[in-house]
Amino acid sequence: HSHPKSDLEIAQSAKMEPISTIAERKLGLDAKDLEPYGHYKAKLSLDYIKSLNDKPDGKLILVTAITPTPAGEGKTTTTVGLGDGLNKIGKKAMICLREPSLGPCFGMKGGAAGGGYAQVVPMEDINLHFTGDFHAIGAANNLLAAMIDNHVYWRENDKTGLDNRRITWRRAVDMNDRSLRQITTSLGGVVNGAPREAGFDITVASEVMAILCLATDLDDLHRRLGNIIIGYTRDKKPVLAKDINAHGAMAALLKDAMKPNLVQTLEGNPAFIHGGPFANIAHGCNTLIATKTALKLADYVVTEAGFGADLGAEKFFDIKCRKGNLKPDAVVLVATIRALKMHGGVSKEDLKTEDVSAVEKGCTNLERHLMNLQQFGVNAVVAINRFSADTTAEMDAVRKVCANFGVQAIEADHWANGGDGTLDLAHAVVEQCEKPENTFHPLYEDHTHLWNKIHTIATELYGASDIVADKKIRDQIKTLQEDYGHFPVCIAKTQYSFSSDPGLKGAPSGHVLPVREVRLSAGAEFLVVVCGDIMTMPGLPRTPAANAIHIDPDGRVAGLF
Ligand code: ADP
Ligand code: MG
Repeated sequence: HSHPKSDLEIAQSAKMEPISTIAERKLGLDAKDLEPYGHYKAKLSLDYIKSLNDKPDGKLILVTAITPTPAGEGKTTTTVGLGDGLNKIGKKAMICLREPSLGPCFGMKGGAAGGGYAQVVPMEDINLHFTGDFHAIGAANNLLAAMIDNHVYWRENDKTGLDNRRITWRRAVDMNDRSLRQITTSLGGVVNGAPREAGFDITVASEVMAILCLATDLDDLHRRLGNIIIGYTRDKKPVLAKDINAHGAMAALLKDAMKPNLVQTLEGNPAFIHGGPFANIAHGCNTLIATKTALKLADYVVTEAGFGADLGAEKFFDIKCRKGNLKPDAVVLVATIRALKMHGGVSKEDLKTEDVSAVEKGCTNLERHLMNLQQFGVNAVVAINRFSADTTAEMDAVRKVCANFGVQAIEADHWANGGDGTLDLAHAVVEQCEKPENTFHPLYEDHTHLWNKIHTIATELYGASDIVADKKIRDQIKTLQEDYGHFPVCIAKTQYSFSSDPGLKGAPSGHVLPVREVRLSAGAEFLVVVCGDIMTMPGLPRTPAANAIHIDPDGRVAGLF
């Protein structure tokens, strides 16, 4: 490609098929089971999803990555490319991805619908509003916030003992807006309520998002929403959303958001794009209902988890697979030469120069991730996502390291060539999926003590020698153990290192993981363990991507990646 087209130009020049045609031809769906949103997007009815219950499951393939560079290593692109490659070799395959958030869309340049010739379309719709799920989640989140302040306003009805100073529920909007991080509400006198400190999170960080992504059906959604902790009483007893009877109306707002969204890849293969929780304070993968439905509809389902495998894959296995009884059949670990070089000590400016020894050195990171994956009993292959600057000698170095490990490393060129670029990878993945027994298991048991769950992840996966926390936090964990000891833990730490220090590249060991804070997501049913500065309301950069986005004279979106 001498004049490379932008992702948006590639996406807009694709000839899409009506989504009803894709649904019928590729998945055998009837028109009545489909709820179209225009011609190229549709939701699946929940009744139809229920009717699939007794069908056998297809094979589940997780795409994860080595410790990434800020640019991302190509998990989404590889997920799309591998789905197309599997279809090309004659398999009935579909993919499951997260829905993009508007925040990063207008902030840093970079789409969440793949890239190059491995994309899902209509790309501009998927990136902007899509089918409105995130707005519905924001509305449910904010209904609860409004009902909490209203409850305090009509205080004489209170039976909960909710302390106005101990309200923990925050408001949400799907936008990067730092001015809303910390605010004061109810100013202006008695009729406006009781002033208090409050704040907004970006919608993807709302617990409602995490709940929607883990709920098995509408009943489970309703139950989980009811269990959200909205704040505490004077003597620090939790008050729940069901205590102010908010969960029914919240579920009503979410009835359509619960339905998986169907779109297509550039090559006309089916894709669910549904839900998109943060990968730090939440588990970072698409909805359980989309994955489970895809497993009923296709023989091979390829899905992505956020960040590197230490965070994304671990949460996929220990939170999502545990809750959903999923047993992944194969894992694709995406690596790029540029990220391996960074782990080998090369600076960002020098990434374009060949440096085989830096690649070799950086492979310590790759090896640690492979060892970690073995601990879950899953079969892995490495996909080297090819960039134009990569050299054969650098590729060979990675292949050699992986061969020593007994793992195949396969070049994938889907970004430039679509499904034709992943044929080898597709064959290797099928080979892994056909191994006779599935030995997948989560890293720790439900009944393991919360503290030991954190300790296990830190020592077994991060290479830490220990975990530390102030007495206050240790006491908190001790108390939480009584009622919530069976919950999995969800670690929030930097994605740029195995440690809590983003500067420590490669495969650091002997470091100590500091637990700075714990937050209970009682509706999502996990304990968030904060081990670093975690931003739940990002800001826009100096020159936001929004500056380049506009409508062209033909009425089409331009400048979006
Ligand atoms: P991740 O899901 O790991 O964050 P993405 O698949 O979204 O990564 O890719 C991140 C960015 O890098 C996207 O803009 C994508 O188009 C680009 N990209 C991915 N693979 C390649 C490649 N092989 N060559 C050039 N750009 C790529
Ligand atoms: Mg991605």
